Amino acid sequence: MGDRSDSSGARHELSPSALIPNAAEPRADIFAMKYRRLASIPLAASIVITTLFAGSAVASELGEPVDYDLVFPVEGKHHFSDTFWAGRSHGFHEGQDVLADKMTPVVAVADGVVRLVNWTTDDAMNPDRCCSLVIEHDDGWESWYIHLDNDTTGTDDGRGWGIKRAITPGVRVKAGQHIAWVGDSGNAENVAPQLHFELHDPSGTVVNPYKALVAAGGNDVGTGPRDPLIGGARTLRRGTAGYDVRVLQRALNDLGYSVGGVDGSFGPKTEQSVVSFQRKLGLAADGVVGRTTKTAIGGVQFTDTSGDVLSVGSRGDDVRHVQQNLNKEGFSVGSADGIFGPKTLQGVISFQKARRLWVDGLVGPNTRKALGLTRS
Ligand SMILES: [Zn+2]
Repeated sequence: MGDRSDSSGARHELSPSALIPNAAEPRADIFAMKYRRLASIPLAASIVITTLFAGSAVASELGEPVDYDLVFPVEGKHHFSDTFWAGRSHGFHEGQDVLADKMTPVVAVADGVVRLVNWTTDDAMNPDRCCSLVIEHDDGWESWYIHLDNDTTGTDDGRGWGIKRAITPGVRVKAGQHIAWVGDSGNAENVAPQLHFELHDPSGTVVNPYKALVAAGGNDVGTGPRDPLIGGARTLRRGTAGYDVRVLQRALNDLGYSVGGVDGSFGPKTEQSVVSFQRKLGLAADGVVGRTTKTAIGGVQFTDTSGDVLSVGSRGDDVRHVQQNLNKEGFSVGSADGIFGPKTLQGVISFQKARRLWVDGLVGPNTRKALGLTRS
């Protein structure tokens, strides 16, 4: 999925994770885990827990970047980039994928107690020995470890296990303790061995552990933090809440639209601001922030005033040449009128997708080059 602007060379190198946009997670299985967890908590207790956390200092937003002291979960050679908010078949990605060879040791990131081992009741999947586990830390946070190994060494037979024998529900673990092995179970099978790592705050909200993983010594080979809005796959609309909404609200405020309080909650004022923005740019004014509107916001935000990067709203001969070449390449943008509007934006996006460029709807050096244009 696209990440940020074309205006800086450093920002748009493809990361390994970006090359596997459909590294889908076993969502259904995770939901089953969540359900099991909820089902195991008596109703009264869960009400008490909810009430307690409602007033506590820990009140994260979905996907909020957090500083959280942890031990890096993969012990050995690995690489990762910020994949939170990346596109997945079920919507967007709620964790970080740390790519590493199969059977690389996985360690507990904090002191705590094993809460869940595995999710499966399928005998073929080695119940209780494969392929995911949850540790509740002593401070109430949780770390989730998914796609653990399910093969015997050197095979792809699904008959091995990726969780150490001693790691069973209720067992105490120490930070840095070896608990499991990297694998490619679930729907990582056809992608690459990786640890899908999640961090949940005490209220159960999934936060973005990217910063924490980098601080813990993870070898970041990616492009730096993903912009939750521009680089995020989630469609935002009235009723959506999360850190990406907060980023949207800040962006709209910066662009001169008054969304009122920046609270991460997409209400009527945010919607009205989005509609105004869309009208101004000639986009469909539906108040829904999908790919096109995000790209347009990114374009406006990151427009390089030196004129090196063209985006929605740009005008002139440069734009005319882009339009002419898009038309020539078969990405019809209508008449080459020198005005970068929604049709040109769609054309640029389609062109970038087709050429496997960073899809951001901006015409920077790479897109320009691919279009056969050099700076005049
Ligand atoms: Zn993942």
